[in-house]
Amino acid sequence: MDELGLFTLALGLSKPWEVVDLKFSKEDGRLDLWIDFVKGAKFPCPSCQETKEGEAHDTQKRTWRHLNFFQYETYLHARVPRIRCGSCGVKQVEVPWARPGSGFTLLFELLVLSLSREMSVAAVAEMTAVHANRLWRILDHYVERARRSVDLSGFHQLGIDEFSLRKGHVYMTSFADLEASRVVFLGEGRKRGVIEAFTQDLESWGVDPDQIEVICCDMWDPYLSGIGKSLKKARVVFDRFHVMNQLNKAIERVRWEEQRENKALTRSRFLWLKNPKNLTAEQEARLQALKRLDLRTARAYQIKLALARFWEIADPAEAISYLKRWYFWATHSQLQPVIHAARTIKNYWQGVVNFLDARVTNGMVEGLNSKIKTAMKRAYGFKQVGYLRTIIYLVTGRLTFSYTQ
Ligand SMILES: [Zn+2]
Repeated sequence: MDELGLFTLALGLSKPWEVVDLKFSKEDGRLDLWIDFVKGAKFPCPSCQETKEGEAHDTQKRTWRHLNFFQYETYLHARVPRIRCGSCGVKQVEVPWARPGSGFTLLFELLVLSLSREMSVAAVAEMTAVHANRLWRILDHYVERARRSVDLSGFHQLGIDEFSLRKGHVYMTSFADLEASRVVFLGEGRKRGVIEAFTQDLESWGVDPDQIEVICCDMWDPYLSGIGKSLKKARVVFDRFHVMNQLNKAIERVRWEEQRENKALTRSRFLWLKNPKNLTAEQEARLQALKRLDLRTARAYQIKLALARFWEIADPAEAISYLKRWYFWATHSQLQPVIHAARTIKNYWQGVVNFLDARVTNGMVEGLNSKIKTAMKRAYGFKQVGYLRTIIYLVTGRLTFSYTQ
């Protein structure tokens, strides 16, 4: 086998296509391969796939970027035939190594998809020397197509969460299949209408929104109102992450006020909000020292830790009675922000208690939140909401890509 035959094989080409010429330039750092079809070859119509194949009517020269050959950028060139179809007129035939209209081979596009799951699009652009806008078009195409092939028949537990873009000025809402740990829809804003946008999207996929049994979300009235309208059959559950967040906000308010009179609290925000298990030895020592001072912040912190214990109690009846005692303590703490947080929890009591038998775990919700953060880092430097949406689906959608056309 000669080198042309070797490249024909390496590119996975079969009749009528074969590599007919190559040019390797060390100076330009590139390898060019010319592919051609054997004379007299016949091709099916790309539109109607009519079995009666037509002979080339004329050809058009095309170039595709392919995977690098070692460090050398590789380009494929071919004259692509157009055939005259009895029903469709003159049509360019499809080539097996690229999808219609793309300037990249399928293998190159698959590489871009794999890299973009692991690193930022800006880094992929630099690595491949392809302009980021072209990479985004590849990602958009495959992500949209892969999303449409996701099987949602087992989707019963929905996680709804908000996240902000551009330092909190723009909000989006993520809708996730908690059991599959996959984001299935991203809606704009965090108003009541975003829930309906989601159910409409589900219906457009042929999925009945009533198959959703449990919804895990924040104590956010616009969501709850939207759920009451569009997802009536589901039971709402407030998960640990969002309930504890109420207490974190309360501690932050207590500390903010107290810090004015007690400088020991300066730059201690993090200590009170972080899970005690995740503190370094040094942070732990500082927290212990602060706790020995008679601080309102330290009291609010104790109330927060006490609330966290609610989720550790296995017996539901015992857990509910514990939560009631906690509520009494919190509302008698004389700390206004803590009392406010406790009352919020009381207002949404049923949803908090629903957690006990809803089979939703906190790990599901928190795991997805951190995946969304990871995804946003991959899109760093690109402000378009559309790009962000694409990358979040790519990183969190558990999509499978096939590189056939
Ligand atoms: Zn046709």
